[in-house]
Amino acid sequence: MPDDSHALHSVLTEARIFPPPAEFAAKAHIRSMEDYRRLYAEAERNPEAYWGARAREELHWETPFRTVLEWKPPHSRWFIEGRTNLAYNCLDRHLEKRRDKVAILFEGEPGDVRRVTYGQLAADVNRLANGLKRLGVKKGDRVGIYLPMVPEAAVAMLACARIGAVHSVVFGGFSAEALRDRMNDAGAKVLLTADGGWRKGAVVPLKKNVDEAAPHIPTLERVVVLERVGQGGALGPRDVSWKALVEGESDVCAPEWVESEHPLFILYTSGSTGKPKGVLHTTGGYAVNVSLTTRWVFDLEEEDVYWCTADVGWVTGHSYVVYGPLMNGATTVLYEGAPVHPQPDRFWDMVARHRVSVFYTAPTAIRTFMRLGDALPRKHDLSSLRLLGTVGEPINPEAWMWYREVIGQGRCPIVDTWWQTETGAIMVSPLPGATPTKPGSATLPMPGIKVEVLDKAGHAVPAGKGGLLFIGRPWPSMLRTVWGDEERYARSYFGEIPGKYFTGDGARLDADGYLWVMGRVDDVVNVAGHRLGTAEVESALVSHPSVSEAAVVGRPDALKGTALVAFVTVKKGVEVTPQLEAQLCTHVTKEIGAIARPDVIRFAEALPKTRSGKIMRRLLRDVAAGKESTGDVTTLEDLNVLAALREAEE
Ligand code: ATP
Ligand code: MG
Repeated sequence: MPDDSHALHSVLTEARIFPPPAEFAAKAHIRSMEDYRRLYAEAERNPEAYWGARAREELHWETPFRTVLEWKPPHSRWFIEGRTNLAYNCLDRHLEKRRDKVAILFEGEPGDVRRVTYGQLAADVNRLANGLKRLGVKKGDRVGIYLPMVPEAAVAMLACARIGAVHSVVFGGFSAEALRDRMNDAGAKVLLTADGGWRKGAVVPLKKNVDEAAPHIPTLERVVVLERVGQGGALGPRDVSWKALVEGESDVCAPEWVESEHPLFILYTSGSTGKPKGVLHTTGGYAVNVSLTTRWVFDLEEEDVYWCTADVGWVTGHSYVVYGPLMNGATTVLYEGAPVHPQPDRFWDMVARHRVSVFYTAPTAIRTFMRLGDALPRKHDLSSLRLLGTVGEPINPEAWMWYREVIGQGRCPIVDTWWQTETGAIMVSPLPGATPTKPGSATLPMPGIKVEVLDKAGHAVPAGKGGLLFIGRPWPSMLRTVWGDEERYARSYFGEIPGKYFTGDGARLDADGYLWVMGRVDDVVNVAGHRLGTAEVESALVSHPSVSEAAVVGRPDALKGTALVAFVTVKKGVEVTPQLEAQLCTHVTKEIGAIARPDVIRFAEALPKTRSGKIMRRLLRDVAAGKESTGDVTTLEDLNVLAALREAEE
């Protein structure tokens, strides 16, 4: 149990508090802490009444629900007897007012730009929905989606939702094997793919991977192939061209009014901590909470150009690239390629050209840009930005400050959003017009969300002490099960304390009730009797001007119980010397205390990451201990990184 880490946390970072800018707050959806506290209290008094009211406000229900919640731990059902359709809520609802408004602003890596209006998107979705029906796809059937970040990825998801098919998106950067495993687990009947996609100036061979995987997916009947790069090769007997499938189909398709608990999608987790889990989300509860959090957290207004840089292959892409913005009638930016291609300032160039106003990305991207230096963003007109967000990992205060000062030019509030594939929607985040922020803290829970930091026995730990992060009651967008593995669902999420959802993260609440996520519980180590969140040691390391990225893991040590091994990458032009190593150790001692001083610092060219950009500390633990990795490595971005680390070891 992490218990005394609070004393070790840099006092400096906690002292900085940034109130929301007055001019921002004046126009925000939620404008003050009083508003937030009122909503929070309302939800605490009667969670079911609160969620019932939100559900009626957020969605069109073709048939109204009668019961808000049925909670038989670990299973929840929401908005029972209600019927709705998510494609209808994303599209048809807006057609009267927003038919000609841009729904998707797409930019391909080669620079091709497409603006898809709500009217066009609705027609495209309906044609594909009709085409899928013609291929025999029925309500409840699983459809795989393995596409680049092109508008058709959103069209595919919405077409499935339109007819009640369950989509399972696999990130386009995954290999044939990873695709095969996920499609088999989901039991996909049809797979939507493309001849390829553009990434770093090269073609990602999606169709080739599908051809490799398909013979080993017995449930798979048809593969629909979109032409994106013009290099797909011939179509086989299983294949059908996307263009041919939708040509001649009607642009009208009546929505399938599904029960609120009808499955919407299966999505596999990032695999940072183990074998990916097939997280199942259902329709009504997911939609209500995603719609609500998109508007509150990103403060969307009619004129906003909203850009969340996540790939649709991750939950962030599902909730905050596609469903959330479209339910709110917003303009959502989709970018196909790599962030630093063909120039390292591609993102800032795009922000300036498209006048992006809300920008949401991951700490790993922010740290990459920070390493590249201030000159790149400073070359561009970033004055359209009014709000910045981050998600995916704890953000170290240095990166937070850089984001605020250099990208946000001190003007934009930052929302550090904590949530998971399993939670479906943002759970803990500042509301940008209301919540004073502290760099590195995700701040306060959304109304209706009961965040608890507990010890193993289920007792609340006092403010400032580290513990296990739980959600104390069900919420509408929670996962319903692990697809095909009910036992793993019950054990992973409700096995610690009955009736409470265990997040797998370690965290502490400070005296203001602000949440500080310390990383995965596995990443909290015990050094000579002290509990340390490795994220805090990493944060101290990256606050040194020479360091670009750091990952800290524990290694069994006869003397101290656990020794700290730090893997460090340095900034461009920095020379690795024994003096630097000594300096870094002194720096950590100064920032946190002698107890956090790394026993070993290993300089590396790169750190092993998941394809979503998260450091895979479980692999580094093996490297540090000199063991072979036995865990799942299918989500590792670059196997060479691991090999290089091992070679350096030898
Ligand atoms: P797996 O569950 O397969 O190990 P994963 O946990 O990386 O993979 P995701 O659901 O994509 O899969 O990530 C959720 C996790 O990301 C959270 O549990 C938390 O550890 C981390 N996280 C997300 N957002 C934040 C944030 N704002 N601050 C701190 N940590 C965050
Ligand atoms: Mg997880």
